[in-house]
Amino acid sequence: MQSIDNYDFHGKRAIVRFDFNVPLNEKFEVTDDTRIRAAIPTIKKIFAGGGAIIAMTHLGRPKGVTEKYSLKHIIPTLEKLIGKTILFATDCVGEEAVELSKNLKPGDFLLLENLRFYAEEEGKPRLDESATQEEKDAAKKELKIKQKAFVNRLASLADCYVNDAFGTAHRAHASTALIAANFPNDKMFGYIMNGELKAIDKVLDAPERPFTAILGGSKVSTKITIIKRLLDKVDNLILGGGMSFTFIKALGGNIGLSICEDVELAKDILKDAKEKNVKIYLPVDVVTTKQFDEVFKGNGNVETKISDIRKISDDAQGLDAGPTSIETWKKVLMESKTILWNGPVGVFEVSTFANGTMNIAQIVVEATSEGAYSLVGGGDSVAAINKFNLADKVSYVSTGGGALLEYMEGIDLPGVKAIKD
Ligand code: AMP
Repeated sequence: MQSIDNYDFHGKRAIVRFDFNVPLNEKFEVTDDTRIRAAIPTIKKIFAGGGAIIAMTHLGRPKGVTEKYSLKHIIPTLEKLIGKTILFATDCVGEEAVELSKNLKPGDFLLLENLRFYAEEEGKPRLDESATQEEKDAAKKELKIKQKAFVNRLASLADCYVNDAFGTAHRAHASTALIAANFPNDKMFGYIMNGELKAIDKVLDAPERPFTAILGGSKVSTKITIIKRLLDKVDNLILGGGMSFTFIKALGGNIGLSICEDVELAKDILKDAKEKNVKIYLPVDVVTTKQFDEVFKGNGNVETKISDIRKISDDAQGLDAGPTSIETWKKVLMESKTILWNGPVGVFEVSTFANGTMNIAQIVVEATSEGAYSLVGGGDSVAAINKFNLADKVSYVSTGGGALLEYMEGIDLPGVKAIKD
């Protein structure tokens, strides 16, 4: 496998799949440039090696050419962060892109317009609801052929391919996976991809022990495969948030109106954990409220009570971990050498119920400062750690979201496989 570290970029045009899917405000200004800043090491490396960059990315979920999702909006931010004039091709596979790419000189940065303006990028036909199955099948077949031409056209712009978009690595799209085949000897990961894969592999394949995972979030059903896989890897599993109530019910507790799913599934997991010698730590107390409807509207101005998690009153919901739960979890976490955290342990978006998640973030930071390796990842835990301004105090924050969860489940990510194969 090629490595970006020793690849010779001299005089080459590198087509790089970035994840510049950044949020824009109503004036189309970039409101959070984290994803662009994260890409700087890869950009610098290619320029330092004497190469030029052809940047491809998606922005939003357009269903065709849509002004709102044009990548021209991100040019000022790119120019500021990279310190260069950005060349822009208004059609990612148009004549203009071909012409511009031909004339690229070392150190040039050419940005291609939003890949998802073409259905070919995702390979999903854009039909309306009324289409018949036959029409759908025919459209799929036709798009498959067009997608091949789209991939070839993109590939023809460049001499080598770099994938640095971990956030879309779980999608087998034209730019994230298919194009790699056009560069059998000139394809590689960028530094974001390398960093993400290294961090996850370190935790899942060679963790220093004890290894503790904290899983939270709303539902156990969406995390079942991950829980099962983690039971083969961890010493301790802390289960918090909405998903914990199904387990408490499985153990005979009264959880009131708290979120509850398949109790049999929870029993199964508990049995599995016992057999595998994994210690499960559920909350022992929770912050409850009867006015949960208000909370889910974003209003934290409600009456709360700390309750034994097995004795929640029939008309209340548990929405955050209580102080005794946090104390118990703290002991486990402070003795751990590896920590994986995915999912908040309460409705952290509403400040009345954010304490548990904030405490977890602080404890993970404390354990890290005492030598533990900590990986925080998956949508909401990243949002939480950013909200508490602690992201730079843990070992690694994965930006992967869906890609991270699938990788943790043991799924071969198409974007990763395409480079490794
Ligand atoms: P997930 O996407 O499954 O990781 O879930 C994240 C969501 O879980 C966040 O929006 C939290 O507000 C929510 N959540 C955490 N704890 C609870 C709880 N006890 N009851 C309901 N929702 C919760």
